[in-house]
Amino acid sequence: MSTINIAIDGPAGAGKSTIAKMVSAEMGYIYVDTGALYRTIAIYLKENNIADEDIEKSLENADVSLKFIDGTQRVYLGDRDVTGLIRTPEISMAASRTSAIPAVRRHLFDLQQKIARENNIIMDGRDIGTVVLPDADVKIYLTATPEERANRRYKELSEKPDCPSYDDVLNDIIQRDYQDMNRTAAPLKQADDAVLVDSTNLTLEQAVERITEIIRERI
Ligand code: C5P
Repeated sequence: MSTINIAIDGPAGAGKSTIAKMVSAEMGYIYVDTGALYRTIAIYLKENNIADEDIEKSLENADVSLKFIDGTQRVYLGDRDVTGLIRTPEISMAASRTSAIPAVRRHLFDLQQKIARENNIIMDGRDIGTVVLPDADVKIYLTATPEERANRRYKELSEKPDCPSYDDVLNDIIQRDYQDMNRTAAPLKQADDAVLVDSTNLTLEQAVERITEIIRERI
């Protein structure tokens, strides 16, 4: 029996992970956050001080894997759980830079496809509908204006110590969009057969409702 695969792509801060988590919990699917894989490679390269010219060769030793514990994703580097280390602004930017390297994308490709083959999943990322799961049952491209995405990110970060300014958050978003959309390897773009959802003027509940409706119509 083949599995059901739902792809949600879009830029940083559009609400992909929050929405995908809620919808997958409701549907009993596994939520797969592929950004965590690129973030873990960024941690690996940083911790091991790998120079740019040595990245490709060093990936042989970058053993990245995912576990799902009570439906929640944990990401491992070797046997170390690095889930708590990957969500900093520095690692966001480093992940965006390293994800442009074709060898990094190749290194993570099979892992993503295998999870999708073996489970009913909602997978979010930048190239899921275009490259990783071109035959996904449902494809959604979720976006919002950079200002609205920065607002949401800033609100989240403002609860933590060392919160950056709103302008820094906005500039990071604009720079990451640019890098992710303009790279040669699997750039961020809407797949031809993806449904566009703009969440700029939607509440979280409205966005969840819209996406659930799109999925139900197609499955
Ligand atoms: O989704 P998240 O913000 O955690 O992703 C971090 C970075 O990883 C993105 O800015 C993007 O450069 C990269 N990424 C990617 N392809 C994916 C998921 C994430 O290139 N499927």
